[in-house]
Amino acid sequence: MDLKMARELDLFRKAPKVLLHDHLDGGVRPETVIDLALQTHLTLPAHEPKGLADWFHMGANRGNLKQYLEGFSMTCAVMQTEEALERIAFEMLEDMRHDGVCYVETRFAPIFHMEKGLNMSRVVNAVLRGLKQGRKAFGVRFGLILCSMRNMDHSLEVAELAVSFRDQGVVGFDLAGEEIGYPAKRHLDAFHFIQRENFYITIHAGEAFGKESIWQAIQYCGAHRIGHGVRLKDDLFFNERGEVVGMGRLAEYVMNRRIPLEICLSSNLHTGATTSLDSHPFRIFFDRKFRVTLNTDNRLMSDTSMTKEFELASRHFNLDLRDLEKITINSMKSAFVPYRDRCDVIYDVIKPRYAELHSAVAEYRNRHREAPTRPTLEAVAESAPPSAANPA
Ligand SMILES: [Zn+2]
Repeated sequence: MDLKMARELDLFRKAPKVLLHDHLDGGVRPETVIDLALQTHLTLPAHEPKGLADWFHMGANRGNLKQYLEGFSMTCAVMQTEEALERIAFEMLEDMRHDGVCYVETRFAPIFHMEKGLNMSRVVNAVLRGLKQGRKAFGVRFGLILCSMRNMDHSLEVAELAVSFRDQGVVGFDLAGEEIGYPAKRHLDAFHFIQRENFYITIHAGEAFGKESIWQAIQYCGAHRIGHGVRLKDDLFFNERGEVVGMGRLAEYVMNRRIPLEICLSSNLHTGATTSLDSHPFRIFFDRKFRVTLNTDNRLMSDTSMTKEFELASRHFNLDLRDLEKITINSMKSAFVPYRDRCDVIYDVIKPRYAELHSAVAEYRNRHREAPTRPTLEAVAESAPPSAANPA
């Protein structure tokens, strides 16, 4: 992608985006944290938005998932009333609109919002109220995913809660938290319940732990999508030049079954799931036709947005607008809303808006007389200096 052109045309922000992996408590606005902390007399490490945002980001950027998760105790501390939950959900959709996101699946763990006496149903109801108002005000469609934690024993209760809210906007169930030492198969009763109810499962796996974690999530727990899945790289075979020469049964299965991988580039760097973008398998997965999607994970902690993730991926992995469109369509195909709704977003929103952007790019190139990557004979003739024999 020509980055100068992308910036001039504001392509990364304007491109319609679909976000499947975003934590509600990982994307609270710093201004809102400050405001709510004042109301609840909570002491913060910084009192102006920029300083507080930096504190979250510094805390997160330590290459360790356990430390990365610490910032959440601060955001969760201000998300203990129905008003606060409603407000944060509403503001999230406003932020999505500014970020060019047309469909978002946000997720959170209700268990962390019961310190002041709310029960899980009231917590979920409050978030859904905020989301529904946000949908009305900003036109961004949403689905809500309820998370249970790997190191706790409430997963069946959360699974039942998720299913009970399926007609109110909850679209799936997730298992999150520390991977090492807490295998997903400890929560089989919850996953089997979800499966019997014909409901939807995504599991954080292959982020801090190896390919076995991904295998377990899919083959024991029935995950329809994988959060991160970076370590699927361990099931690919490389030659000495770093080229993929084959893949194991698990990687083949993930590819053949089109199991979506919710890739979160900035977050993967911050938690140490990858040491650098150079060693991140995104480009390999993309080239080998895995169904990859791009996501934010935690916008506040990772100081990111979908616009930034698109720019990062384009810059680092040399994606063009067609690639971004493909990834966006892949994401929408992988959403947990009904098939008809997914088609509506793809055909009524994503494709027409990308068509406009492709025209804007063509027009820009025309204006700047930019030579295509592989010049055609006509283009060469056109770009030749005018002469008497070949007037302009
Ligand atoms: Zn996550």
